[in-house]
Amino acid sequence: MALIVQKFGGSSVRDAERLNNVADIVTSTYKEGNDVIVVVSAQGDTTDDFIEKAAEINEKPSKREMDMLLSAGEQISAALLAMAIERLGFPVVSLLGWQAGFDTSSDYGNARIKKVDTSRLKKELDKHRIVVVTGFQGVNRYGDMTTLGRGGSDTSAVAIAATMHADLCQIYTDVDGVYTADPRKIPAAIKLDVISYDEMLELATLGAQVLHNRSVEMAKKYNIELEVLSSLTRRKGTIVREDNKMEKMLISGVAKDDNIARISIIGVPDKPGLAFKIFSKLSSKGINVDIILQSIGRNGTKDISFTVEKNKMEETLKLLSSYTETLGASSIVSDDNVSKVSIVGAGMESHPGVAAEMFEALFTRNVNIQMISTSEIKISVLINKADSERAVEAIHEKFFETL
Ligand code: ASP
Ligand code: MG
Repeated sequence: MALIVQKFGGSSVRDAERLNNVADIVTSTYKEGNDVIVVVSAQGDTTDDFIEKAAEINEKPSKREMDMLLSAGEQISAALLAMAIERLGFPVVSLLGWQAGFDTSSDYGNARIKKVDTSRLKKELDKHRIVVVTGFQGVNRYGDMTTLGRGGSDTSAVAIAATMHADLCQIYTDVDGVYTADPRKIPAAIKLDVISYDEMLELATLGAQVLHNRSVEMAKKYNIELEVLSSLTRRKGTIVREDNKMEKMLISGVAKDDNIARISIIGVPDKPGLAFKIFSKLSSKGINVDIILQSIGRNGTKDISFTVEKNKMEETLKLLSSYTETLGASSIVSDDNVSKVSIVGAGMESHPGVAAEMFEALFTRNVNIQMISTSEIKISVLINKADSERAVEAIHEKFFETL
C-alpha cells in the first residue's frame, strides 16, 4: 500500500463531466489499495473570473479581501469532487487549506507555506477516507485566508506529499507530460519520459507553464518524485526527479518567454561601483533582474543593459530616471518587444559546442541576438519578439528533428 497525492488542475475539474472523470481516477487508485490525498484547483477559469468580478467592484481591493475571494474557487471544486466520489460509494471528506493544516506567511496573494500540520490529514486517512484538499490556500497567523500565488495548487500538492512522506505525487493537467517545446506551437515536440528537477525548474521559470516553479523547488528539496500527466488520456506522463548522472539528456527543451523587457542605461562613467549602485537600487525595490550585459568601456563611458519582467518595466524606468544624474548616464532606453528563448539541458555541462549549434540555428533563420546569458544547464538569448516563434522552431529542429 502506498500513499499517493494526486493534484488536478483547473481544466481537469472544469465541469461535471470532468469532475466525474477525476472521481474515477481517484477511486481507481484507492481501489488498488492506496491511500489517496487529492488536491484541486478552481474549476476552469474561475480564478480569472473572480479577478474580473473584483475589478468591477473596486479597482484597488485590499489583498486580504482578494484572497478571501480567490480562495473560494478551490472550495467549490473540492466540495463538488467530494460529492462525485461520494456518489460512487467511496468514503471521502473535503478540507479547506486551514483544515488540512496549511500555515502560511502573511503576504496575501503570494503567501509562503510555513508548515503543514498533518494531524487532520492523518486522522482522515486512518478512517480510510479519500481526502480532497483545496489547493492554492492556507491560513496566516491572524487566522485569515491566504493564497499562494497564481498556479499555487501544485505547490500545495507537493507540500502535502513532502510532509506526509507520500510515495508519489501526480500532477494531472491538460498536457500529458513535459515536452521538448510547447506542443501547441511545435507539432514535432517530443514528450520526455524523465526530466531532472533542475531542468524542470529552468523550464518552469522560462514559462513552459507545466508546473509552478515553487512546487519544483520544494520537490527537489524534499526529494519528492513528481509525475506530470493528463487526466484525459490516462497515459504515462513525465517523471520529474533527481538527475541521473549516467544518462543526462544533452538538451531537454526549448522555451520562450515573452513576459520580458530590456532596459539600457547608456553612457555611464566607466568606473567601479556603477553596477552595484544600479542593481542594489533595483533589488531594494524588489525588482528582479535577469540577463545583464555590460559593454566594454570606450572613451571613458560604458552601457549597461538588463532585462526585467514586463510588468516591472515602467516602475524600473521611473526609478532609474530619478537617478540618471547620480549615475551620470546620458540616457535610458527600453524595449518590451523582446523575447527570451532558452535551451535547457543537464548534459550541456560536459558538452562543448551546444551554444554554437544554437546560434547557428538562429543564424540560418536570420535571427539577430541582442543579449546572451548562460549557466551550466541553460543558454538564453534575447531577441526581437517578432522573431521568437521562428527561433524556437529553428532551435527545436536543430536539436530534436535531425539525427
Ligand atoms: N486557481 C489558482 C489559479 O488559477 C491556483 C491554481 O490553479 O493552481 O492560479
Ligand atoms: Mg487555475
